[in-house]
Amino acid sequence: MKPPGWTLIAAGVFWVLPSTASGTEEGCSTAGRFSSSRNASASIGDPGIDVSYYRLDLHVDHVNGTLRGDVRVAASVVADTLHAVTLDLSASMTVDSVRLGQTRPVFVRLPTGFTVQLPTPHTRGEHLTLDIAYHGAPASTGFGSFVFSSALEGPWVWSLSQPYGARDWWPCKDHPLDKADSVDILVTCASGLKVGSNGRLVSVRDNGDGTTTHTWTERYPIATYLVSVAIAPYAEFSNWFKYGPQDSMEVLNYVLPHHLELAQSTLPRTVDMLEVFSRLYGPYPFLNEKYGHSEFGRGGAMEHQTMTSTTTFDEDVIAHELAHQWFGDLITCRTWQDLWLNEGFATYSESLYREARYGGDQYRALIRNRMHDAMNARGSLFVQDTSSVPELFARSRVYSKGASVLHMLRHVMGDTLFFKAIRAYAGDPRFRYGTASTSDFQSVCESYYGRSLGFFFTQWVYGENYPRYTLRWTAQTEGTSFLIDAMLEQETGTTNPSAFVMPVDLRFSAAGQETTVVVWNSQNPEQFTVPLPFRPERAEVDPDQWILREVIDPGPVLPTTAALAQNFPNPFNNGTSIRIQIPHRTHVTLSVHNVLGQRIETLVDGVVDPGTHEYQWTPGVALQDPGTVPDRPVASGVYYCRLATDGAFLTRSMIFIR
Ligand SMILES: [Zn+2]
Repeated sequence: MKPPGWTLIAAGVFWVLPSTASGTEEGCSTAGRFSSSRNASASIGDPGIDVSYYRLDLHVDHVNGTLRGDVRVAASVVADTLHAVTLDLSASMTVDSVRLGQTRPVFVRLPTGFTVQLPTPHTRGEHLTLDIAYHGAPASTGFGSFVFSSALEGPWVWSLSQPYGARDWWPCKDHPLDKADSVDILVTCASGLKVGSNGRLVSVRDNGDGTTTHTWTERYPIATYLVSVAIAPYAEFSNWFKYGPQDSMEVLNYVLPHHLELAQSTLPRTVDMLEVFSRLYGPYPFLNEKYGHSEFGRGGAMEHQTMTSTTTFDEDVIAHELAHQWFGDLITCRTWQDLWLNEGFATYSESLYREARYGGDQYRALIRNRMHDAMNARGSLFVQDTSSVPELFARSRVYSKGASVLHMLRHVMGDTLFFKAIRAYAGDPRFRYGTASTSDFQSVCESYYGRSLGFFFTQWVYGENYPRYTLRWTAQTEGTSFLIDAMLEQETGTTNPSAFVMPVDLRFSAAGQETTVVVWNSQNPEQFTVPLPFRPERAEVDPDQWILREVIDPGPVLPTTAALAQNFPNPFNNGTSIRIQIPHRTHVTLSVHNVLGQRIETLVDGVVDPGTHEYQWTPGVALQDPGTVPDRPVASGVYYCRLATDGAFLTRSMIFIR
């Protein structure tokens, strides 16, 4: 029997249900969901208004590092009666005046904003427009907010507001939940500079006084943290994404002139990525405007709507930020606790682009790398404390574990239903150009899967850690075939959950023969009976790494000698797996050396149990988003893996291509 919705994974793979299976499934849990209102850093936004429009008229003085602005906020009233409006603005900026139509209402400065007292109460459905004049030297919080710097060729000014930095340079309702329908961005700065921003560049006006005003208009809904400017004496080049026989969209790139050649070597691949992601997720969401990149100085990259800001031209990073245009910009995480809906999807999209362009091995290589990193994730994927920006953006959690969770969901749902669900989620009018929560995404997946995915989200999104599996088995002759008695155990190191419910691949093999069965593992420990036409010599748990897990002991068939297998993949340009075989419990050293014999990294130095063990070597992970920590750069070349144990001294060479 197969539970509905489960599909065959590959030829030679079949389903086995445990004889004791109760089919237990937990409903969708709300455990672990907290209100973000207890968090001082995250504005809860004024719940009395719904912002429809912002107009930012900014005068940027790069010599003095100051900003003067006039910001218009248009909103409708969503409270029964509204007496005052509170907007976010950091203390480093001085509010010069507030106007409401022809009136100048009283305003009260708060530590991170200001409250405007309305002369007469407004009622639900009424519209109001506030004009705020302000100035100051913007504070730099989080990943930069608004930074004055210089490049080789001249002044270099840029913004990066995620998550709480928009208020450092402009007054707004700084919460992802309230997207404006449109935004106009006018930037007046020294002539000779270019300004990259959201939407379309509609005018560049020379003011005749050494300054120029650049006007950008964004006519798609946008969250405050995605509004950006990047200013420098940029060189410019464009590519064109032809999305229909007669239709094309500009991919506009602003880069520092001395990086032009470098940028032109990889950024044109954006067009191919637009094709791949449009196929997977539906049409690029901002076709009437553009996509593009502005070079900025933060390190990494940031998915500003229709124009990513980036420091690197790395292919994975370009793919990551482009995927954010669907997951982050088109559909924005409703709260910062749901950040994995942005970062997990963008990180997973790097692997999907590799799969589409270079094949399954490249997909696997990258996702294995991510899973290895995801083992370091602390706390639940659904971020419970969003007050610390580095904690919120911890790479191993919202990026690597987020991507790993989507990889696992793909295995649970099967390719066809998984990709249908992802595309339906990206196209869902309830979330497009708006926001979505984790439970929204879960419900879309369930509508395709045909049954609850509560067990999956409860343990992987709201729970912690991952399973460490142990499989013990024996084979008995049964006429001309064999009956395998297998006992699967797991430990999780947490009570949340105390055991993971998952489909688990078990692969049994002997010389020239191999069978993979998928067991529905819902108890711990759990016994399975598997009929096989041959006597297996070896059993593996989740050999294709569809689960974020460790495997402690692959079976009772113990090796008789120490062995070091060739790493896989090889050559490699991300992570590679190194498998060793140890005959008895003993001290083991597994290390990586360069051609000079110098030790680059120690993978194991300690006592290891008998059996087969697999380790990952990750020479370095490219920077991508703020908050990621660069690993040590390791150059391309030949490296040696050495296994030392009990007098055995084994070496394999590996080729790393950066
Ligand atoms: Zn990202």
